[in-house]
Amino acid sequence: MTLILPEGFVPEEIPRLTEATWLECGDPFPMLHHLARTTWSGRKFRLFAVACCRRIWHLIDADYAREAVDFAERLADGEASEEEAHARCQAMFARVYGAEPKSSNAVCACCDASATAVEGRNEWDAAFFAGKAACAAAAGNYSDSIPRWNESDLDEARNQSDLLRCIFGNPFRPAVINPQWSTSTVLNLATAIYEERAFDRLPILGDALEDVGCADAHVLLHCRQGGEHVKGCWVVDSLLGNDEMNVRFVDCQEIGMGSPFRTCKIRFKGAWIPFLQENWQDRMAQSQDRRYTALVAWAISRQNNPGFRVFVLDPKEGRILRSKRIKGCCESLTWDGDCIVYRAFRDPARQDEGRIGLATLG
Ligand SMILES: [Zn+2]
Repeated sequence: MTLILPEGFVPEEIPRLTEATWLECGDPFPMLHHLARTTWSGRKFRLFAVACCRRIWHLIDADYAREAVDFAERLADGEASEEEAHARCQAMFARVYGAEPKSSNAVCACCDASATAVEGRNEWDAAFFAGKAACAAAAGNYSDSIPRWNESDLDEARNQSDLLRCIFGNPFRPAVINPQWSTSTVLNLATAIYEERAFDRLPILGDALEDVGCADAHVLLHCRQGGEHVKGCWVVDSLLGNDEMNVRFVDCQEIGMGSPFRTCKIRFKGAWIPFLQENWQDRMAQSQDRRYTALVAWAISRQNNPGFRVFVLDPKEGRILRSKRIKGCCESLTWDGDCIVYRAFRDPARQDEGRIGLATLG
């Protein structure tokens, strides 16, 4: 799952929001433009698109369109393959946008919500187009109106703004979750709320959080404020780590008796699951802003000399970057700003430290 925004996508004339305008804004589209300037996973935008479609569920006049929304939600949760998504997207676009008479805006919203890169869309586009079409659908507007979204339901726009605040929280105050709150009671509650869409239980989650010492006014207020909450709700997501790319090392094996160097396999969980077959070492480091994850793969030479490469995963752009081969065994890996700093062990007399600039990776 990737989020790729072309350079300069947000026109400069679109004003940046302040915290006060974000909290009061009743128009989702400047809010989406604001979010496009910051770093979020594609998953959150997709879930917003899905939530917009669910709000106009009663206006959707085709079963295949509702199925597309269900599919988009599974895609957001990493439960559907990109290949299947691309194939469905192409078929859906041909069916919806090639139709005569024109498909209703409600159906277009569903099509937009499930759109993928094959139609030149990304998750942000899915959110933007699905939101626009849903507002037009709520206003009783059909897609062959010119311009297509010439009327927009203002109540629907306000509801969508609330959805954005539910999903993205307050981007001016990133969520801080104290690991001590993550007791089994809290995590079980949060998991059930997410999986069963039982957002009416959020006040119970608020009480459970308070019981384990949470005094964060933003977290508690969001749990207790009522209103509509949807999959992607920032409190539930933050507790469950739903948006983090999670790397787990499995099948670790020592290279030599007692050596600190191990080969392993890697399992990914999260919004973006890259496919990588390498001979991994159990070393990992995440950049300070948590956007990039650096991993180490063994690169033994033909003469059997140890060496490694550093891989950098960039879920935001769906990129995987790779360093040149470095001699030795990687002892440690850390980030310093835009650089990865490694220590390599070559022999007892020689330890190297090196820096790899992100911009130098290919
Ligand atoms: Zn919420």
